[in-house]
Amino acid sequence: MSKILIRDGAVLTGEQGYKEILTPGYVYVQGETIAAVGAGEPPERFLNECDELISAKGFLVIPGLINAHTHLFQTFLRGLADDKPLLEWLACAIWPGALAMTEEDIYLSALIGFAENLKCGATSVLSQDYVQVSKRNMDRVADAAHEIGVRALLARGYAERDPYNPRFQESADVVIQETERLVKTWNQREDGRIRVEFGPLIPWGCHAETLRKANELAKEWDVGIHIHVSETQPEVQMSLDEYGVPPVRWLHELGVLNERWQLVHCVWVSEEEMDLIASSGATIVHNPISNMYLASGIPKVVEWRKRNIPVALATDGPGSNNSQDLLEVLKFTACLQKVATLDATVLSPEQVVEMVYQGGARAMRLSDKIGRLAPGAYADLVLVNLQRPHISPVHSPVSALVYNANGNDVDTVIVGGKIVVRQGRLLTVNEERLIADCQRAAERMAERAGFRSWRSQNWF
Ligand SMILES: [Zn+2]
Repeated sequence: MSKILIRDGAVLTGEQGYKEILTPGYVYVQGETIAAVGAGEPPERFLNECDELISAKGFLVIPGLINAHTHLFQTFLRGLADDKPLLEWLACAIWPGALAMTEEDIYLSALIGFAENLKCGATSVLSQDYVQVSKRNMDRVADAAHEIGVRALLARGYAERDPYNPRFQESADVVIQETERLVKTWNQREDGRIRVEFGPLIPWGCHAETLRKANELAKEWDVGIHIHVSETQPEVQMSLDEYGVPPVRWLHELGVLNERWQLVHCVWVSEEEMDLIASSGATIVHNPISNMYLASGIPKVVEWRKRNIPVALATDGPGSNNSQDLLEVLKFTACLQKVATLDATVLSPEQVVEMVYQGGARAMRLSDKIGRLAPGAYADLVLVNLQRPHISPVHSPVSALVYNANGNDVDTVIVGGKIVVRQGRLLTVNEERLIADCQRAAERMAERAGFRSWRSQNWF
């Protein structure tokens, strides 16, 4: 069992509502979990017994960040449709691009997406992958997560009805069988680092009976359900036209909403629907950059928090962000709510950090195991270099993390006690080769999808 001692850093533990910072502090890792966290000099015993000693002087030691919503195949599609609303963006870039991707493309796009997440400090990633054109695509995403060493929850995405693109639609039987196969393959593994759950894409792409069945099976298999809800106004109108009620109300009336559900976006939910979410125990996943990029709207994060709804933070897919830098999301989360409410006090840096960790841990269904540095928690932690011109001098480390730092300041990343990034370099894959392979594969994909004529060309 490998033992790592990190000493002399400023340690953000997660105690006191993410206000406690041990300066200096130490973290002692034994195997895949944290054995001890403390202030001052580490005990002699840890110094004698550790296999690896990391000096964190000038660094902020934080729990690994939790990116609670992305679609990693979209790394191959970023920048293809910058100025489009959601439904047009799907139709002109995401669907044709996804249809042109091979199994190998899905694997490479996931690998570079996980690489970016890790290098930006996200040790846990919840990716909803919905390109099931080849039966092995989800397996290839899981392979990528396994190889690179990230902690991943993979929502197996599906759609089964119009108006979702028919080329992506699957029957309910296939959805259930395939989700079961993946859950049985991955969720029972010893280290539990990669797990699978249900990922119905959107209410307008799913039948009520399948959602009810998925909800029953989720309980039986002890997994969650991940779904986009009320991202844009046209989607709410589609629900009103078909069912006479908005999407969250519709899910409530199906009797399926509960604490297993991760509701992504919720930009256009009524006060009544917020109350329904609050009483269900579901988590909302907030993606401020994606909501701004697609001009979807401004979610009412402050109203959610008043109702004690757990809120996780996320980048969304690289097609609508276009980055996977979760540290950027922290700053946008605070700034978007400030300008929306015209109240500069509306979200403190500590409250933003609490969302990314506590809400994220809940979305990953790993509360108490991730999002904090404490004995017994998974050894998922990140060293952020605060000794940089755009950060120093530091008066408040949490403010510096939210408002100054970006993914390039991440120096060391440890997942489950294994060092996967050191001095900003990935240890588990060859970065240069990966970038070159992805560029070549994405250009071939662009050719097959017919993008070449209007946007893409050989850049490198
Ligand atoms: Zn999404």
